[in-house]
Amino acid sequence: MAVNEQDVEKIVKQILNEIGGTSSNAAFNSYSNLGGSTPAGSIPKTAHVAVLVEKERFEVKEYPIPPVGDDDILVRVEGCGVCGTDAHEFKRDPFNLIPVALGHEGTGEIVAMGKNVKKDSAGKDLHIGDKVVTCMIFKDDPEITMFDMNKQNVGGADVYGLLPDDDYHLNGWFSDYIFVRGGSTIFNVSDLDLDSRILIEPSAVLVHAVERAKTTGILKFNSRVAVQGCGPIGLLCIAVLRTMGIENITAIDGNPGRLEFAKKMGANQTVNFGDYQGIEALTKAVYDSFGGHLADFAFQCTGNPKAHANIYKFIRNGGGLCELGFFVNGGNAEINPHFDLCSKEINLVGSWVYTLRDYGTTFDFLKRAKGIGLPVAELITHRFPLQEINEALKTNLAMTGLKIAIVNQ
Ligand SMILES: [Zn+2]
Repeated sequence: MAVNEQDVEKIVKQILNEIGGTSSNAAFNSYSNLGGSTPAGSIPKTAHVAVLVEKERFEVKEYPIPPVGDDDILVRVEGCGVCGTDAHEFKRDPFNLIPVALGHEGTGEIVAMGKNVKKDSAGKDLHIGDKVVTCMIFKDDPEITMFDMNKQNVGGADVYGLLPDDDYHLNGWFSDYIFVRGGSTIFNVSDLDLDSRILIEPSAVLVHAVERAKTTGILKFNSRVAVQGCGPIGLLCIAVLRTMGIENITAIDGNPGRLEFAKKMGANQTVNFGDYQGIEALTKAVYDSFGGHLADFAFQCTGNPKAHANIYKFIRNGGGLCELGFFVNGGNAEINPHFDLCSKEINLVGSWVYTLRDYGTTFDFLKRAKGIGLPVAELITHRFPLQEINEALKTNLAMTGLKIAIVNQ
């Protein structure tokens, strides 16, 4: 016997009443108001959200799923990467957000949406079942490409996963459901696999950095490019450069495993700084790696002030440098402006997160990277279920892996 949708709704409603979830009825009713476009039976009445309740301790809390308004979207979370920002917040709460639902590198599937929701932020259609990511809300104005992370409270920037707690509670991607309110930026990325979708946000940081680097006019197909730091950011930097046709890349790091990975991501040469004593020897190693040349351009992808000071030596006169490693205040770096900047005429750009436009480019980057066989998905070295969120953050802080992710079943 075929059971029609209305019957299913009636049965589910009955069950919900029987198990006494009064708060769930409002939520359920809102789904039934959506004209049958929602698989009502598959949506639970509550969501599980990892809330950082104090420094170094998440608690997975259960909250009722709020009613989905005409402009809102309910997303079943599939996975979310752990970012350095999450690790800093976990360890020290520099943004003063506790209690907070973290996780901003997340992705999942639309399970319910209001009747006014038709298109994503790029104008693509949205449907139940589409895979999506959210993004920071930026004004697409060249004067405002900066997101001021130094503010005490970053709530004003509308980044899911860095919002202050509120009555919705479903504000971060370290959860099984996230509640995306009307007016948020959201992108339909159904054509990307789960691993790629988890890597969109960190990849966008590199797409933006390379766009910043291009403003110097120095990056060319045949440029010699040094990438210092082979954590997830440096490795993705190499992959972005490789997908744009730059092949002469030297990766610099102190970890042999990461340098091996850098080769898989497209670096031709590697330099392990641990093998050299002093900046002259290290500079010579970079010079030798390019067959007797300094770098035309360098990307600084570590948060170490000493690494910032060193990198000028690796760059030729008239070359360029993009500094993108300092997501948090790592202290002062000592450079000699005469030798390092002026007399070499270094073209220096800083890079900070990304813009909405970079997001679109990032989706294409991930497809191109896959197309040319770069193992970008292998960046995800550890996967934890939501219940093991504390372990996941500790693994991130121990720096034994590359990208750590929470993945829901
Ligand atoms: Zn991040």
